[in-house]
Amino acid sequence: KVIISAQNLLKEYRMGEEIIHAVANVDIDIHDGDYVAITGPSGSGKSTFMNLIGALDSPTQGSLQIDGQELAKMSGDDLATLRNKKIGFVFQQFNLLSRQTALANVKMPLLYNHSPQGDEIERAKECLTMVGLGDRMDHLPTQLSGGQQQRVAIARALVNHPSILLADEPTGALDTKTSEEIMELLNDLNAKGITIILVTHEAEIAVCAKRQIGFRDGSVEFDRLTETGDAP
Ligand code: ADP
Ligand code: ADP
Repeated sequence: KVIISAQNLLKEYRMGEEIIHAVANVDIDIHDGDYVAITGPSGSGKSTFMNLIGALDSPTQGSLQIDGQELAKMSGDDLATLRNKKIGFVFQQFNLLSRQTALANVKMPLLYNHSPQGDEIERAKECLTMVGLGDRMDHLPTQLSGGQQQRVAIARALVNHPSILLADEPTGALDTKTSEEIMELLNDLNAKGITIILVTHEAEIAVCAKRQIGFRDGSVEFDRLTETGDAP
C-alpha cells in the first residue's frame, strides 16, 4: 500500500527578484513499511521535501497524498491532527523541553487535545521502556547523554502510534557508536512495521535503510534499493 505519494511536487521560495526551486519535478511513492534514506548535498532540497511530507509546509504546485488523503484539500485542523497522530518527528538536536522530565517530554504530543488519560500515560511509559529508558523516566534532558536524549525524542515521536516516522539527521549530533545504537533502534522499529524516512549525509547511516533517494538541485537524482533492501 502506498502511504505517501508525491506527484510533480514543486516548492518555490521567493528571495526578492529571485525564485528558488527548493524542490522541483519530484514524483515519489513510499509504501507502508518502507525504510528510506534521503541523501544529497547541502541545499539539494532534503529538508524542504521532509517539511512537505510532514505537512509542515505546503507545496507551490503538485499533489501530495498521505494515507490516501490529498493534503491540499485538508483544513488546518485536519493537517494538525495528521501531524500529531500519523507522523512522528525526530530532529538532529532532539528538541526536548529542557525543564521537563523524560516522561513529561514523551507525554507532550498527548497534551495536544486534552489531558492524557490512564492508558495514554501507560503508553508513554511503554514507549520509554521500548527505547531502553524504563529506568530514566524522571530524568531531565541535562541528566541524560545525547543518545539517551534522542531515545526520549524517539519515544515522544511514537507515543501516538504514528504509521510514519520522519527523522531529519537523527544521528547528526551523535558520535559513531551512539549513532549505531540509534540506527539499531530505528531498524527495530521498521521491522515492527513503521514506515521510516530519514535524512542523512552519512553513507554508513544511509545503508541502514532499504531504499536510498538521492536529491540534487531539488530533484531526485537516483532512487534505488540499498544492499539492506536487496537482501533476501
Ligand atoms: P537541504 O536540506 O538539502 O540542505 P533545503 O531544503 O534546506 O536543502 O534547501 C533547498 C534550497 O531551498 C536551498 O537553495 C535553500 O537555500 C532554499 N531554501 C530553503 N528554505 C528556504 C526559505 N525558507 N527561504 C528561502 N530559501 C529557502
Ligand atoms: P500547531 O501549529 O497546530 O501547534 P505544530 O506544527 O506545532 O502544530 O505541531 C503539530 C504536531 O507536530 C505536534 O503535536 C508534534 O507531534 C509534531 N511536531 C511539530 N514540531 C515538533 C517539534 N519541534 N517537536 C516535536 N514534535 C513536533
